[in-house]
Amino acid sequence: GSRLQDKVALITGAAKGMGAMHVRIFASEGAKVVATDYNYEGVQQVVDEVNKEFPGSAVAYKLNVADENDWIEVTKKAYEKFGRLNVLINNAGILESATFDKLTHEQWNRVMDVDTWGVFIGMRNVLPYMKEEGVGSIINLSSIAAINASGGLSTYTAAKGAVTALTRAAAIEFAPFNVRVNAVHPGTIDTDMFREGFPTDELRHAAMQGQPLKRVGKTEEVSYLMVYLASDESGFTTGTSQVIDGGYTV
Ligand code: NAD
Repeated sequence: GSRLQDKVALITGAAKGMGAMHVRIFASEGAKVVATDYNYEGVQQVVDEVNKEFPGSAVAYKLNVADENDWIEVTKKAYEKFGRLNVLINNAGILESATFDKLTHEQWNRVMDVDTWGVFIGMRNVLPYMKEEGVGSIINLSSIAAINASGGLSTYTAAKGAVTALTRAAAIEFAPFNVRVNAVHPGTIDTDMFREGFPTDELRHAAMQGQPLKRVGKTEEVSYLMVYLASDESGFTTGTSQVIDGGYTV
C-alpha cells in the first residue's frame, strides 16, 4: 500500500511488541521509518528484516525515551537522513506491579520517567521539525488502564492517565501549527507485556474469556489504527482518545 507515502515516522520502543509491528506495517505502506529503542541490537534486527522486504525504508537508532539528549540527537539524525520528520509514535512504555503499601519511590519514578516524561519530551523535540514541515501527527500510547482501573498497577494507571491528559494539552498547543496529537488506548494485546502479566496458559485463557470478543488483540490490529492516525486520512482528528480493546471497556 501507499497510505503513508511522504511520511517519515519516528517510532519509540520498536525492538519488539507493538512497536516492531508498526515499523513493518508503516514500511509496507510507503513510510520511511526511524525505528528507535534503548535496546539497540533488538531494533537493528527489526530494521534489517524490514529492509530486506522494503529496501531503504527503515533506520535504527538507540533512543532512551527518558533522556532528552537522546531525543535531541536522534531527531537531528533522522532529519538529516530523510529530510523531514512528520510522524511520531510515542510507543515505548513500561509497568511496575505493586500494591500501594509496597510501591517504592524508585518504581514510581521509573514508570513516570518512561511513560509520561518520555512522551512529553518526545513531543517537544519533534515539534520544531513538524512546524517546518507544516503538518504533523503525534500518537501517544495510553492504555485502557487509564479508563478501567485494576489493583496493583497504580503507577502505570497514573502514568497512562497523564498521557491522555497531556495529549489533550498538546493538541491545543500544537493545533496552530497543523500538528495533530491523539492518544491510543489498547486493551489486552498479544505482546511480552501481556505474556508476563499472564504467565500461564490458564491465566491467558481466563484473560481471553473475560473479553467480549473472547480473544486478545493482535499487534497488527493496533498498527492499522496507527496508519490511519499517522496519515492525512485522519486530518480532522486531534486531541482524541482511540480505544482498541475488543469491547473490554464497553
Ligand atoms: P513491549 O514490552 O512488548 O515492548 C516495549 C518496548 O519498549 C521494548 O522494545 C523496550 O525495549 C522498549 N522500551 C522500554 N523502555 C524504554 C525506554 N526507556 N526507552 C526506549 N525504549 C524503551 O510493550 P508492548 O506491549 O508492545 O507495549 C507498547 C506500548 O503499548 C506501551 O506504551 C504499553 O504501555 C502500551 N500498552 C500495551 C498493552 C498490551 O496489552 N501489550 C496494553 C495497553 C497499552
